[in-house]
Amino acid sequence: MRRPLVAGNWKMHTTPQSAVELARAIVRAELPADVEIVLCPPAIAVTDVARAVVGTPVRVGAQNMHWADAGAYTGEISAPMLVGVAEVVIVGHSERRADFGETDAIVNRKLRAALAAGLTPIVCVGETEAIRDAGGARETITSQVRSALAGIDSAAAEPLVLAYEPVWAIGTGRTATPKQAAEAIGWAREALSQALDAATAQRTRILYGGSVSPGNARELLAQDGVDGALVGGASLEAADFIAIAWSAIA
Ligand code: PEP
Repeated sequence: MRRPLVAGNWKMHTTPQSAVELARAIVRAELPADVEIVLCPPAIAVTDVARAVVGTPVRVGAQNMHWADAGAYTGEISAPMLVGVAEVVIVGHSERRADFGETDAIVNRKLRAALAAGLTPIVCVGETEAIRDAGGARETITSQVRSALAGIDSAAAEPLVLAYEPVWAIGTGRTATPKQAAEAIGWAREALSQALDAATAQRTRILYGGSVSPGNARELLAQDGVDGALVGGASLEAADFIAIAWSAIA
């Protein structure tokens, strides 16, 4: 009942021109109709990539946004600016949490703004290696989910997508084992159920992210409760990203 979703996070890679070429290579290929596919280019390429995928089922997302609608926030983009161009936005990616000081409270403000604007947010949660080694992964995931959703009710949260991305697996070539991914996603769904309600938690897609590749995607995405993938490095190669999208079909 949850449609698989595979999203590519291109991070700070590509130029506006090469982003369009990459998007064109993806939409030209045969893509699995039952999988929702989202491309998240750098902000400067979002508009061009959105134009390049018009008329295809592929959707476009931003990698980040500010919580305010407008204001003196040099260098930022807001949810209302994205509306009409992108449909999706990544919120709380671990690189933003670690490198740009995004706290749980900021993630919550951004999530509220994204939902209010009618965007589909992909909210990232996940533990560091030190936390996992200390046995705190479940607590971290639960508390990140709870904080992100503070003050948001089930109806407002409806389009929400979560991504479980263990920090130690992002860009490292190390993935969670399929068992670890399924277990952590189970914890995240349980936290969603507590923060919202059981039915909404069952409807909400939860992705796995962290060094997903064509070689490991099938097994990871076959796990119960793993509803797709948020893909970084491997999304920069059209063939790899397309192969991962096909892996999302059981
Ligand atoms: C990411 O950027 O969310 C990600 C999971 O990156 P990678 O696939 O490169 O680990």
